[in-house]
Order: sequence, then structure tokens, then C-alpha cells
Amino acid sequence: MKILWMYHNLMDLYGDKGNIHVLKMRCEKRSISCTVDTCTIGDSIDINAYDLFFLGGGADHEQSLIFEDLLKRKDNIMEAYKNRTQFLLICGGYQLFGAYYLDQSGNRIEGLNMFPYYTESSDRDHRCIGNIALEVNVDGETFKTIGFENHGGQTKNVDSPLGRVLYGHGNTFDGGYEGFVNEQVIATYMHGPLLPKNPRLADIIIKRALQKRSNEEIILEPLDDTLELKAQEVMLKRLNVL
Ligand code: GLN
Repeated sequence: MKILWMYHNLMDLYGDKGNIHVLKMRCEKRSISCTVDTCTIGDSIDINAYDLFFLGGGADHEQSLIFEDLLKRKDNIMEAYKNRTQFLLICGGYQLFGAYYLDQSGNRIEGLNMFPYYTESSDRDHRCIGNIALEVNVDGETFKTIGFENHGGQTKNVDSPLGRVLYGHGNTFDGGYEGFVNEQVIATYMHGPLLPKNPRLADIIIKRALQKRSNEEIILEPLDDTLELKAQEVMLKRLNVL
């Protein structure tokens, strides 16, 4: 599996890099070779050569630093998308795949406009901060996930959310839904990082990414997730949503 970790030096809030470690470890445990390349502002790289594109979260400042570079790569991103590359996008990265992000001072950061959602910053009283739990519905599987969110941006016009909020905020302060999902994208406000306590989601991403270069259905060997699920259970219990 070939992973491209975009803007690794700028977009890495709340340990988003942990997602990369989890993906790599879960591949290695199954003897699936997994390589991770990084790409930042000005680097030349062919995104289409990768199975998984990963972009973590970043504050408004980092988003404003990277968005022009990201927009320059739009044709290459569309080509990769057409060729079934998978996308895992966290928070600030999620926002940048929509139409735009409008920050609290009214500055507009253009997005890739890959999807019709858009994000506008709220007043301070409606910032979405804290633990978050979801009931996720992806690829016909329904299960709970746990994470941490911290965003002023309210993401609206999401036609296919990743899940229903059991605890916390999600796309908007009290809209009840979180993230965005389609056959090739998993986008979410969940940091934590997302994958260590959500192994089912990690495997869905691995399976989807490996599928890019396989004609046969990918079936992953199960791993022992006792500890991961225990960690998840502690948080779900603490939030009263087990
Ligand atoms: N700057 C964005 C917001 O506050 C994204 C923050 C993040 O990535 N955690 O909405």
C-alpha cells in the first residue's frame, strides 16, 4: 500500500500523524508492504501513483499557508480520484476539499471544490471543542467511533455525512451529523488521532486503498484488537454512549 502524507510538517494537529502509524502497523502485522511518502509546499509528486492520500488537520494559519499549493494540484488530485485513490481527510484537511473556508475575521480560504460542502467559522460561543462519539455508517457497516474535535468552522451542505453524533458536535454545533463519506473519501473532524481507538475504520481504509490496484475483493486477515477496543470502550462509557 502506497500512502502519500500531505503537508506532514504543517497539517498535524493533535497527533494526526498517529493515523499513519496505525495504518502502517496494521499492514505490517499482515505482511502487507506499506510505504509512506511525504509531500509539502513546492514538492513535485504524482498523487495518482498513490493508493491513499492523507491530509491531517491544521489551524487557520496553516490552512492559509498550504491552500494555494493544494489548489495548484487540483488536476492531479482529480486524476487520482478518477483512478480510485482513497482520501483520508481530517478537520482542516476535510474543510479544504469543500468549496471554501471563511474564518472568523472574514478571510476566505478557497477550497478544492471537489464536493459541494462549505465551512464558515462560528462565534466563539459556538466553537466545537471536546470529545466526540459517532455511530458511523460506511461500506454497509455500522459501528461506534470515538475522537476529539476542536474547530470553529461549521461545515454545511454535506450530502453524505460519515456518521450520526452520539456525543459532541460534529459538522455544526448542534446539527447531529459528522464528517463526509463517499466511496473514495473519509473526511472527519475527529482527531485523537482518529485510528488508534477505531480499528474498524482503519481496516476499512486499508481495504479500500488496496482495492485500487486489485481486481479481486480484498479480504483482510483479522487482528487482535482487544486493547484498542478496550481503550474505545473506556471513552464510550465515560461519555455514556456505550
Ligand atoms: N481552522 C479550522 C477550524 O477551526 C480547522 C481546525 C482543525 O483542523 N482542528 O475550523
